[in-house]
Amino acid sequence: MIHPATELRLVSPEVGYGVFASRDIPMGTLVFVQDPLDIEITPEHYGALDVTSRELAEKYSFIDVRGIRVLSWDSAKFVNHSCEPNTMSTAWGFELALRDIAAGEEITDEYGLFNLEWEMDCACGRRRCRGRIRPGDAWSFYRRWDRAVRAAMQAIPRVEQPLIGLLDEVTRGSLDRYLAGGGRYRSVRNLMRPGTRPARAAC
Ligand SMILES: [Zn+2]
Repeated sequence: MIHPATELRLVSPEVGYGVFASRDIPMGTLVFVQDPLDIEITPEHYGALDVTSRELAEKYSFIDVRGIRVLSWDSAKFVNHSCEPNTMSTAWGFELALRDIAAGEEITDEYGLFNLEWEMDCACGRRRCRGRIRPGDAWSFYRRWDRAVRAAMQAIPRVEQPLIGLLDEVTRGSLDRYLAGGGRYRSVRNLMRPGTRPARAAC
């Protein structure tokens, strides 16, 4: 489920829809948590789909570390990529606001953590735009992404968290221990399927 203070808007005819903050969302806010209504598409299910359904699944879902496509039931599936995103996936199963997001600002995410099967063009226009989003990007950039996630996680206890009740008990316990200084940080690398690792980074 995506954060309730968001709304769907047309970005442009070329880009299509995007998700925008309808009020200020502070750094450290959980912006998305997978919930029981989200659809999980196994590789077997995906393989049995017709071409049209496969194309829709590819466009609107992300692939988790188990290889399962997760198709959100709400507007979360319309969140666009940016090479300088304001939210990011974490290995605790939620997306986190990396900085303060102002009302009216588009919510953006890092598709490099979505186990992409193919390269995608990117025209996000940000200074650090990579031009292409590649399946192995996480292995090149995870250190920078982890730094951003770790910094934003420190704000988790200080801000309103409308989605935190969606975390399962084990995840919540692990998160609380980490935030209290008693648990280890989980790198975003944990989101990546081993097969996405480029050969040159294998050692
Ligand atoms: Zn870009």
